[in-house]
Amino acid sequence: MEITRFAPSPTGHLHIGGARTALFSWLYAKSKDGKFLLRFEDTDKERSKDEYCESILNSLDWLGIDIDSEPVYQSQNIERHTKLAYELLEKGFAYSCDCSEERLAEIRTEQQKNKQKPKYDGKHRNDNLEHKQGNVIRFKMPDSGYTSFDDEVLGEIKVNNIELDDFIILRGDGNPTYNFSAAVDDMDMGITTVVRGDDHLTNTLKQINVFNALGYKIPRFAHLPMVLSESGKRLSKRDGALDLFEYKNMGYLEPTIINYLVKLGWSYSDQEIFSKNELIKFFSLDSVNSSPSKYSEELLNWYNNYYIKDMKINDLVTLIRNDYNISYNLDTNNKTSEIFNLMREGVKTLIELIDISEFFYIVPDYKEINRSIIEDSKNILENFNANLGSFSFESHETLEADVKNYIKDNDLKFPQIGKPLRIILSGRENAPSISELIYLLGKKETSKRIASFL
Ligand code: GLU
Repeated sequence: MEITRFAPSPTGHLHIGGARTALFSWLYAKSKDGKFLLRFEDTDKERSKDEYCESILNSLDWLGIDIDSEPVYQSQNIERHTKLAYELLEKGFAYSCDCSEERLAEIRTEQQKNKQKPKYDGKHRNDNLEHKQGNVIRFKMPDSGYTSFDDEVLGEIKVNNIELDDFIILRGDGNPTYNFSAAVDDMDMGITTVVRGDDHLTNTLKQINVFNALGYKIPRFAHLPMVLSESGKRLSKRDGALDLFEYKNMGYLEPTIINYLVKLGWSYSDQEIFSKNELIKFFSLDSVNSSPSKYSEELLNWYNNYYIKDMKINDLVTLIRNDYNISYNLDTNNKTSEIFNLMREGVKTLIELIDISEFFYIVPDYKEINRSIIEDSKNILENFNANLGSFSFESHETLEADVKNYIKDNDLKFPQIGKPLRIILSGRENAPSISELIYLLGKKETSKRIASFL
């Protein structure tokens, strides 16, 4: 059975890049009827925080990326990692080293001078030093041949073993290092495919050699190219690398984020919109793009507008009621579903929708508007208001017909009423049609706003 995992370091919230890695790993597992596991790589005691574990779990939960067993906490496996480091030492896959910091610094300076990659020079590689407190344990990289694998996304990756460092697996203070712990955990979790960012490529080369030494079958690897900003640079907060919950707070919907994340590096013919089930059916790692993708706010907003309009209106209103802070009381207008249905047409986010619908619930702020448009139409508006009582509010259609007849019967041109009325009722110049405004505000509120404005 395929088993994949997502292995975030809980040193921050889940951001777009991490969420994409998680999603691709999850989709691959699900597409193979396999399992998706979660491992918190929380061994950096200073930077790892419980609140980030919780926040990452919440974000995955929001996206519906479900985990097939309890999360693994790497810090709880340290004893196991240590034990295996000693085992490798005993079996000759690793060696003890007592080189001082000064000596290592000298080697580094020398290598920098000669424009060589930093690498331990192997002084104690064959010394069989007795391991004592304060020594480190180094992994004994093969000194000939190649380390290679066929990446599901990037194709063949091959490196001369001469390039690889005898990296430390157990520090002088007795703590295992990341590359060793990660490999042991992947083995213990039975991981068959590792999906991770391509910034981990050099780690993978080390870990492959650790797997060999541990006698674990090398998993499949899929390294995902970076997500870049619109200008082609590393994605930063400023150009969109927000934490997932910030997208949620801004009013982006879950299927928006799923489709958008998928679009960052994967496509299936020219289909733009996928349900989760379709994604699970169609997803494959070999159709993941091997070059970096670019963040696009326009695309994100396009998806969100699509899904805001696609949602059943009652579900949308329920979501807004339950999950968002609204500065006005939705219960002060009994046509909320119709209001949101009308107003959602061109919006990018739920926050925008909440914002532009406000005037249906509270009298708009007229500060910014030009009163002269209304001054000229005072009489017309007074007369209109006086007749409002005779209009039918049974449906939007009956009201629309009555407004039209009124305009005709009084020899008016539509803008004479429409323009000032729109401003009075909504506080804006571009708002929905007049009859819609009046219908959704209701007779009483419409009349009140006209009278108090005049
Ligand atoms: N903990 C690593 C990170 O957050 C992930 C490593 C991996 O996927 O193996 O970047």
